[in-house]
Amino acid sequence: MAAAAGSAATSSFSEEELTLTVKWSGKEYTVRLCGDDSVGELKRRICQLTNVLPKRQKLLYPKLVASKLADDSVLLCQLPLKSSLKMTMIGTVEDEIIVDQVESPEVVDDFEIGQDEALHIKDRAVNKLKLRRRIDQYKIELRNPCREGKKLLVLDIDYTLFDHRSTAENPLELMRPYLHEFLTAAYVEYDIMIWSATSMKWVELKMGQLGVLDNPNYKITALLDHLAMITVQSESRGIFDCKPLGLIWAQFPEFYSSKNTIMFDDLRRNFVMNPQNGLTIKPFKKAHSNRDGDHELVKLTRYLLSIAELEDLSELDHSSWSSFTEDNGKRRRHA
Ligand SMILES: [Mg+2]
Repeated sequence: MAAAAGSAATSSFSEEELTLTVKWSGKEYTVRLCGDDSVGELKRRICQLTNVLPKRQKLLYPKLVASKLADDSVLLCQLPLKSSLKMTMIGTVEDEIIVDQVESPEVVDDFEIGQDEALHIKDRAVNKLKLRRRIDQYKIELRNPCREGKKLLVLDIDYTLFDHRSTAENPLELMRPYLHEFLTAAYVEYDIMIWSATSMKWVELKMGQLGVLDNPNYKITALLDHLAMITVQSESRGIFDCKPLGLIWAQFPEFYSSKNTIMFDDLRRNFVMNPQNGLTIKPFKKAHSNRDGDHELVKLTRYLLSIAELEDLSELDHSSWSSFTEDNGKRRRHA
């Protein structure tokens, strides 16, 4: 016991576990977090329990100015929270979540993180600890079994497969062109997981509407949502969320690793815990005017299939993917 007390005393306050009680709609909910989690993280946990989307939550806490709890990037250890006091949440469950997506202001959030800093972030002990905790907390549910000998393709949704900011009578109008052809071709060599920074309800609804979940030509291995993400801190960019692939690798070590996984996302910062596995895809926006000219998924199909035979994908520089397929094509033509 003495040893445990000693180590608790030396560990920083930010790593300490916090148990908070949140009152909402006449009920009380218990949320467990740690000091280095952000307010944004807290809201996602509350969303998990209440289904009130983070952006619809207003948090109130005794003697604490509401603006502190309105800033998602504030760390909980920076707030005077006590487990004896209760937090109140005001917010309504959205049924019209599609409308909600479009209504909310667009976040301009793609920023470059330098290579050196990216390496620093993934190696920081505090971020590794967060990943560890997320691995314990978040269980990936398989919709279809992992397949022996296949690589893994992880896909973002918003602006990667779908233009979530435009409006249309039929969501199919906002789907990135060639999506089903792309998934069909990729499925030959890759298991496919879809990971979006929104709620599971929205991920299932959206993928269902696009016909991705019941397509006869390919199967989706798993869906992941915002609760699987972790919050990390960068010196130049402050606090932001990312998608750590280590969560998947830890849960299916016999199938997937940094060597056989590739992830497509329009936001580079989502790769910060695994920079060698991410490919930044050109965002698909303004679907109505760009639909006819967007061939990204056709070109990326070629890339995916041409690298599928490699032993270790993490040795590639995915930022030059378009020249890789060209070079390979030339080599083949000249052979
Ligand atoms: Mg996106």
